[in-house]
Amino acid sequence: MDARKAFYDRARQIFDLAQAQQALEWDQEVMMPPKGGTQRAHQLATLATVLHEKVTDPFYGELLDTLEDTADLDGRACADVREARRNRDRAVRIPPKLVAERTEACSLAQMVWMEARPKSDFAAFRPHLEKIVALTRDMAEALDAPNRYDALLDEYEPGMTEARLRIVFNDLRGRLVPLLKDIRGASRRPDPTLLTRRFPSEGQEAFCRRIVMDMGFDLEAGRFDVSAHPFTNGTLADVRLTTRYQENWLPCALFGAIHEGGHGLYEQGLDPERYRDPAGGACSMGIHESQSRLWENLIGRSLAFWCRYYPMLRDAFPGVLEGVPLEAFHAAVNAVQPSLIRTEADEVTYNLHILLRFDLESDLIAQRVEVKDLPERWNHKMKDYLGIEPPNDGQGVLQDIHWAAGLFGYFPTYALGNLYAAQFMEQMRTELPDLDAILSRGDLRTVKTWLNERIHVHGRFWTAQELCQRVTGQPLSAEPLMRHLDAKASATYGL
Ligand code: ZN
Repeated sequence: MDARKAFYDRARQIFDLAQAQQALEWDQEVMMPPKGGTQRAHQLATLATVLHEKVTDPFYGELLDTLEDTADLDGRACADVREARRNRDRAVRIPPKLVAERTEACSLAQMVWMEARPKSDFAAFRPHLEKIVALTRDMAEALDAPNRYDALLDEYEPGMTEARLRIVFNDLRGRLVPLLKDIRGASRRPDPTLLTRRFPSEGQEAFCRRIVMDMGFDLEAGRFDVSAHPFTNGTLADVRLTTRYQENWLPCALFGAIHEGGHGLYEQGLDPERYRDPAGGACSMGIHESQSRLWENLIGRSLAFWCRYYPMLRDAFPGVLEGVPLEAFHAAVNAVQPSLIRTEADEVTYNLHILLRFDLESDLIAQRVEVKDLPERWNHKMKDYLGIEPPNDGQGVLQDIHWAAGLFGYFPTYALGNLYAAQFMEQMRTELPDLDAILSRGDLRTVKTWLNERIHVHGRFWTAQELCQRVTGQPLSAEPLMRHLDAKASATYGL
């Protein structure tokens, strides 16, 4: 039998099963009736078992062995085999007993976390987190990488290491902390309260939909719905975006929709000939996040963008922004204010929230810190990095679901997204010197096309770091993001 054909047949079945999981997950968040939960849990568990059997099937392993020994594979097939091997090795190396134990511990921990967070009851959550951290260390050990945290990172950001992250993140922190101090001491201050006026949901929905369409998101190959926690799933010709509306906080839906739109364009922009192949999907979580952040922060919070869209926004909400000039609105959406909750953080402080989590979770995995000491460490770092301290653990160490869900090595991809986004954006400005004129006439498709050609269509042919080097001619660095944030602080706060 032709090993190459047999390999692609199987790899594409694995992809299809994973897509079916996503469709069920979307349905669960957006459409499923309240009583459907148990049935859906069975369906998802069965699919996960079938998927695991497909990936760990010995014959699939033999096909990979054969292809790895084949001398005349083209670059594309080499990348597919490499990615399939990485995926399979992870699945094969972790003992099924450990997977089951960890899955159960995480689902129990999430239920406990849901009750513990509003009560700020870290003591109730602590034994569950201790168990998850111990099982996660075991999992990292089984993955057999030189460094346990690297083994965890590899799932979300292949090729990235703790050591490399530490260099980039230390540089970032060393510049963000003083920038934040300067901003807090600035005499010029924007007024973000104008964004808390009443913006009816119907108007927000129509406006967000318009922007997402202008960005080039194809609604014939996607949907735009409401869910409690906004997300994007699906790929290519069926990509689902969600957002949620807060009538007294315009940025929630507006920037949420632009953010998810950026994720959606990436998925719609994959190579239609290759999207079911192992190297045909999105490059990494960090690169995925770079696409959403680029649209949300670098395009969506720019003055050029609002030159075009502010008059339309005022028309969409008659009278609401009466007497608010463009410059005041633009400053308001760029206001910087240290806050306790990561998901509500602005462009400057958001990264500090991530750096704190990276420090703590890498310390947990390396056993440099124990779970019992987390609240104190958290609060201490909040004071150091952001200059504020949580009054309770609900607004501190208990705020995110990630650790309860067993997601270690995931947080850094949010900050990587911001870094890659700024670096790509600088390159885009070099190649499109009249970008501001392009944006102020609402020609967002030019940005989409640039991203399609430079990033989307390549899938995961290269690692994130190789892609960054190829697109920008430079390795990942904190410089472009800091140049962007310094320039924004100077425009908004007169620094
Ligand atoms: Zn995102």
